[in-house]
Amino acid sequence: MDIKTLQLRAEKSILRSNLDFKLNTTREKAILAHTVKLNEEMGELCNDILSILKLQRASKLENFEKSNMYAEFADVLITVLQLASIAQVDMERAIRDKMKKIETRKKKEKKED
Ligand SMILES: [Mg+2]
Repeated sequence: MDIKTLQLRAEKSILRSNLDFKLNTTREKAILAHTVKLNEEMGELCNDILSILKLQRASKLENFEKSNMYAEFADVLITVLQLASIAQVDMERAIRDKMKKIETRKKKEKKED
């Protein structure tokens, strides 16, 4: 099957699906935009980590500056915090609850050993 045929088949399957991407509110649009932005920032961080590990092609390694990786970590965290705010998630509480869950699981696993 050629790419054009494959693309047309994929397009038809989109039309057949019942996906409804109507975003009615500014908040919904902001959640979607920040979710996409988070993926972009994660990609940039992954790119820098690949450079640190020297797993990039030479042309990318030539332009890499280690200090940029710090900025990418910050971008990821800032975007997560922005997304959480828009989604009305209390990050302090979410992290505290999750850490408690992880610690409980680890204690349980330790007892089972
Ligand atoms: Mg960035």
